[in-house]
Amino acid sequence: MNLRYATGLLLFGVFMVTTSIQSLFAGDDSMKIEGKFYFDDTPVSIDIRDGLIERINRLEKTAEPANAKIYIAPGFIDNQVNGYLSYSFTRPGLTVEQVRTITKGFWSKGITTYVPTLTTESKERLIENFGIMKEAIADEEISLSVPGFHLEGPYISPVDGFRGAHPAEWVRPPDWNEFKSFYEASGKHIIEVSVAPELEGAIDFIRKLRKLDIIVALAHHNGSVLQIKEAVDAGAVVSTHLGNGCANMIHRHNNPLWPQLADTRLTASLIVDGFHLTREEVQVFTRSKGPERVIIVSDLSSLAGMPPGEYERFGRTVVVHPNGMIALPSQNVLAAASFLITRGVENMVKFTGCSLADAIHMATRNPARLIGLEDRGTITPGKRADLVLFSFDDGKIKIIRTYVAGKMVYEAP
Ligand SMILES: [Zn+2]
Repeated sequence: MNLRYATGLLLFGVFMVTTSIQSLFAGDDSMKIEGKFYFDDTPVSIDIRDGLIERINRLEKTAEPANAKIYIAPGFIDNQVNGYLSYSFTRPGLTVEQVRTITKGFWSKGITTYVPTLTTESKERLIENFGIMKEAIADEEISLSVPGFHLEGPYISPVDGFRGAHPAEWVRPPDWNEFKSFYEASGKHIIEVSVAPELEGAIDFIRKLRKLDIIVALAHHNGSVLQIKEAVDAGAVVSTHLGNGCANMIHRHNNPLWPQLADTRLTASLIVDGFHLTREEVQVFTRSKGPERVIIVSDLSSLAGMPPGEYERFGRTVVVHPNGMIALPSQNVLAAASFLITRGVENMVKFTGCSLADAIHMATRNPARLIGLEDRGTITPGKRADLVLFSFDDGKIKIIRTYVAGKMVYEAP
């Protein structure tokens, strides 16, 4: 039996049992949301109580006819965000208020959970900014949407192309003592580290990360078949933005893409903004991994949403193009992305022809599973009521309302 069909039957069983006792639980602190269930396009109402999804009720039709066209899905989860609204988690001057502004900005876009990603920088800068992120995550409002942090670099390939836009000056081999100082500064909230497996000491470093239950990702590397296998054996579980952080010219047989695609133990995170990967790469990577082992990430730059023009980043000139592409011309590489994860969901449907439900799972259930967030990522009784209501016309997602832990945090004007 197909897994989706089986889950559908299971959910339907829950509706049958729960609808009959609904009235017993009706109270002032409960809420009901009505719309079209993203999973199978059928009308439902969802009961929320104390911030949790209480039950899902199958409907003949929605009471409010307009709601019949509005999708209800789990809130989006973005596993790789460098910054937003001009604020960067790695640059100097980071404040808790900036993190709050980013968090609320995401709520208005249907993103209810995200993993702030700090990238290659000096030891002092990373310790300082992880300290600020520790303060931020202690804030009740921010902590609802930030489960921990992702460190991408500085332990990545120093080679041009594979290094991407990370500043060469601060790239270095893994250093456990240094990492421990980042981990302590973050209040032990670093939950994911992206590392290059071919670096001296990388495999031992991966084993140590796993002992702390930190998710290990492979990124910005030119690992061989053997190095990638050893990294996965040691506990690496995901390829960060597969197909990116890779030189433009690679060997047709011996390159880091094939072994990562071939290893079924590796999930792939993909930037599906239309610039970082071609349509064909998205098709092939997704078919190769299957819908369960793909996650869509934004890799959002702090310059996302800024007007086209030249900006200073990493001590160099970064160009925001009118089409949204962000590039570092001196290295002929892309410098993170300007489109939100919702664009990735739209493009995944457009490029691969997959169902909207499958694309949504790649941006909700799959990342929740990867980072071990058992309380969210699906619409299931008992999970946190992180929900997004949106229209999907002409292949475009338009956010109408966002709920975090059962509280409405955004409503479109
Ligand atoms: Zn990267």
